[in-house]
Amino acid sequence: MPSLAGSSEVPCVRCSTRVPGLAWGEYCVTCLAERRRRATRMARRISQGAGLLVVAWVFLALPSTIVARTWGAVIVVATYLLTRQIAIKLIMEFLPK
Ligand SMILES: [Zn+2]
Repeated sequence: MPSLAGSSEVPCVRCSTRVPGLAWGEYCVTCLAERRRRATRMARRISQGAGLLVVAWVFLALPSTIVARTWGAVIVVATYLLTRQIAIKLIMEFLPK
């Protein structure tokens, strides 16, 4: 007897296309790619804003020595990358269908 989850075709949550091997409540490959593309675009804007805030903080609060500027640049890049990854995860989770 075939299992219900493995062999049956389940509709995509968003576009209702029946895809074999898809679990209930999941997106098809096309919808998942579109959703990830939207999340990446939104996350890029959010992380650019966070990066600009950190750049302002580096120029206003840190001393203007080469060591401080170097660490400031590292902090800006780290803030951009971390904010982007966190934003992508959150947007993928909470973006409406
Ligand atoms: Zn779909």
